[in-house]
Amino acid sequence: LSELVEEARLSARALLDYGDGLFNPTVRLGVTGLSRAGKTVFITALVHGLTRGGKFPVFESLATGRIAAARLAPQPDDAVPRFAYEQHLATLIDERRWPNSTTDISELRLVIDYQRTSGADRKLTLDIVDYPGEWLLDLPLLNKSYEEWSAESLALSRQGPRATIAKAFLAHLATLAPTAPENEQFTLTAAKLFTDYLRACRDERFAMSLLPPGRFLMPGNLGGSPALTFAPLDVAADGSAPDGTLWAMMKRRYEAYKDVVVRPFYRDHFARLDRQIVLVDALSAFNAGPEALSDLEAALAGILDSFRIGRSSILSTLFRPRVDRILFAATKADHLHHLSHDRLEDVLKQITRKALARSELSGAAVDVVAIAAVRATKEALVQQGRDKLPSILGTPVAGESANGEIFDGETEVATFPGDLPTNLDGLFTGGAFTGLSSATADKADYRFLKFRPPLLSREAGTEPALPHIRLDRALQFLIGDRLQ
Ligand code: GDP
Repeated sequence: LSELVEEARLSARALLDYGDGLFNPTVRLGVTGLSRAGKTVFITALVHGLTRGGKFPVFESLATGRIAAARLAPQPDDAVPRFAYEQHLATLIDERRWPNSTTDISELRLVIDYQRTSGADRKLTLDIVDYPGEWLLDLPLLNKSYEEWSAESLALSRQGPRATIAKAFLAHLATLAPTAPENEQFTLTAAKLFTDYLRACRDERFAMSLLPPGRFLMPGNLGGSPALTFAPLDVAADGSAPDGTLWAMMKRRYEAYKDVVVRPFYRDHFARLDRQIVLVDALSAFNAGPEALSDLEAALAGILDSFRIGRSSILSTLFRPRVDRILFAATKADHLHHLSHDRLEDVLKQITRKALARSELSGAAVDVVAIAAVRATKEALVQQGRDKLPSILGTPVAGESANGEIFDGETEVATFPGDLPTNLDGLFTGGAFTGLSSATADKADYRFLKFRPPLLSREAGTEPALPHIRLDRALQFLIGDRLQ
């Protein structure tokens, strides 16, 4: 019955959205990616570019002058926080600092006045929905029982580098008998150790991507509640839990997590999206090594699968706007010389292709691009002995260090980003490629320097355009066709 009610709710909402869309053409664009992937910076740069006429040669409608104006408008959903655009922009431009990252869902509405290619004047409403990628990776849980999830996540935690990271959790798990009477203290400890393990997987040394349940890392207002206090147990995937046991308790809470966290997100937000961009910090994954890349590939396959959950009923397929374009974007491409941008795109393309082969997605166009929403670096040829090396120039954030030098936040430095390999095999075997160390480093420093946002030159009274890499290409794919 609850599923029927759920379906009815979904259809009602879809019908409302559909009616709205008839009079007021609207695109709901989802922006997601794991924590620190670059969502906040991306949305800030996109909105700034659209409202202030950014330099977007590949975004055809803007480049050819068919967009007369784009302005912010009050958002449609009363219960969703507004994306703090003005504040983020001020931090970025005036303070030259990176804005605070996404920790929750937020939304912003833009209205674009444009001229159709046929000449008629039209409006397109663009609703941008920013949400953590951790939430998206939770959607596959909807189709998994507690026992299936336990078996999968334990198998994963015993593989490769994860086994070391999960040591404390696995040691505690070995002391737990699933059919022993339920026990709150054991559960609290298990949940804490499991969360510690997930958090450590995100550490930049490992840069793992596949980490459900997502709210364990981003609890928001549910922190400490029973729905977030459970962990996998060593139980058979097809087993059933006897009443009153630890197993039954964990299972109840896992189901509560799905009811309280995952389903509402699916129904209220995810199912209403038309277009989706998934930002991926691929460079961090490359730097962490082959396991991080396999993990990323599995996460992308999971994401692709999410786009086909719950497309069953006739009503919902008729009225529910469905995601028909998905863009995977490798962010922070400004850490590489432009000679490597195509390679970055290519490598993400290869990972996506593998992920696509694993997923059962059909009917949506998928594309891949390497971008920097805000380009923090410039390029130069720098003399190194007898050679001139293609290098990038930027101002490292105060406190960053490389090769024993600590930067003050004001000094510009040149770094020599390594070359990306041309194919994935090099990355996966780890033989041909061992991270993107600075070419001058005596000791390999696999971490990227974090640069400050760029210094913009202001002409009197005007707001300068933010420099970017391929942001216009991303926009063209995401909404270009709706502005024809
Ligand atoms: P979120 O957690 O996905 O919202 O990530 P943010 O948008 O807050 O980005 C996280 C961090 O990545 C920022 O603080 C920046 O240091 C870095 N970053 C994001 N986008 C860019 C970019 O286009 N260029 C550079 N150089 N750094 C970026």
